[in-house]
Amino acid sequence: MLPKVIELLGRKASGAQFGSLAREEFSWLFLPGRHISLIGARRADMLLSRTKLVAALFAILTPLWGIVDYRFLPEALAQDLLLGRALATLAFVSILAFYNTPAGLVRNSRLALLLLFSVPSFFFLYSTVILAPHALSGMAAALAATHAFLPFLVLAGLSIFPLTVLEAALLALPILVAKAGAGLLFWPTVDWPLALGTLWLLLLIGAVATLASVSQLAFIIALVRNAIRDPLTGAFSRQGGSELLALQFNQSVRNGTPLAVAFIDLDEFKRINDEHGHEAGDRALVAAVQQMTRQLRTGDILARWGGEEFVIIMPNTAAAKAAVGLERTRAAGFGQRPEGGPLTACIGIAERSADQVDDWSMLVDLADARMYEAKQSGRNRIVTRPAA
Ligand code: GH3
Ligand code: MG
Ligand code: MG
Repeated sequence: MLPKVIELLGRKASGAQFGSLAREEFSWLFLPGRHISLIGARRADMLLSRTKLVAALFAILTPLWGIVDYRFLPEALAQDLLLGRALATLAFVSILAFYNTPAGLVRNSRLALLLLFSVPSFFFLYSTVILAPHALSGMAAALAATHAFLPFLVLAGLSIFPLTVLEAALLALPILVAKAGAGLLFWPTVDWPLALGTLWLLLLIGAVATLASVSQLAFIIALVRNAIRDPLTGAFSRQGGSELLALQFNQSVRNGTPLAVAFIDLDEFKRINDEHGHEAGDRALVAAVQQMTRQLRTGDILARWGGEEFVIIMPNTAAAKAAVGLERTRAAGFGQRPEGGPLTACIGIAERSADQVDDWSMLVDLADARMYEAKQSGRNRIVTRPAA
């Protein structure tokens, strides 16, 4: 009973907040690493640039606050704190310096973010140890309290980044551990009701900030999905297909694996429009995509390149294997013509290593040229690289 109620509430809440996401997309909000590569790449870009923005801000504010320390705290105390400030500033500057390259973007963005959230945790622990033995009053006590409030700032900071639930929880961990550690270090003097209340408030702020992060991620997923899909057929758009092909091409070069591309043009399609109207043409396009999708292997990517032209990206697939798969697709057909009889297509295949192509757009051009050869030699056929 209770799990059912929780599930229902969860669905209602997610429907209100993340209503535009499909079931599969909804699961991407919880665990990292499951996003399709385009969302991953764009999100990593955002994470890294925001990490650097915050790091830059704190690289300036952390030493500057030292001036306030010197003004209001006993000099010896301000001096001790300055050492912690110097180390924290150095860490913030190193985030700016080291994470400057786009290589390994996704992994880098996570490391930079983890570092960003760890630095204030160490500084919090350090300043607690330094400040705790001193009985301060007036402005000095107020200043010491600003250090004690650091965990609230850190947890609220989660809301700046588009994160999954798991990532937000992991990033909240260092400061929560630091807070618990500070409590343990001074446990005989800890005011327990206050400590428990503080912990409760910290968890609440962390939860609200996590909700903000996850909402941002949901928004990115919906935006990217709309940008990379063709609204009529649901296949990838040319834009989405190009971005995915560029990613796959780089990966294939790096790993030395094959990458096949097929260019598909439906035969005598204009006649469907001319004789049966544009809507019949649209229905035929949707049916052709469904038919092709049925034949694809997982990992293959189908994009509508324009009009009645499609590109299939086949990662890890050598030319001969691609030809076998596409022959199966051709034989299964592309649906029915409205006037009866099968809708056919011409297919050109190119493969990165066999064709010695060193640019993803040249791979598409080559497949397109072979598709054209297929048209000229009589339609409803496949052309691959001529045997050497
Ligand atoms: P071929 O066998 O030489 O490829 O002949 P074809 O008629 O398929 O080639 P052509 O490129 O001359 O015509 C493509 C047609 O596809 C022209 C256009 O009316 C139609 N088309 C392109 N986009 C759409 C669309 O979104 N919906 C519909 N219904 N038709 C489209
Ligand atoms: Mg065409
Ligand atoms: Mg055509």
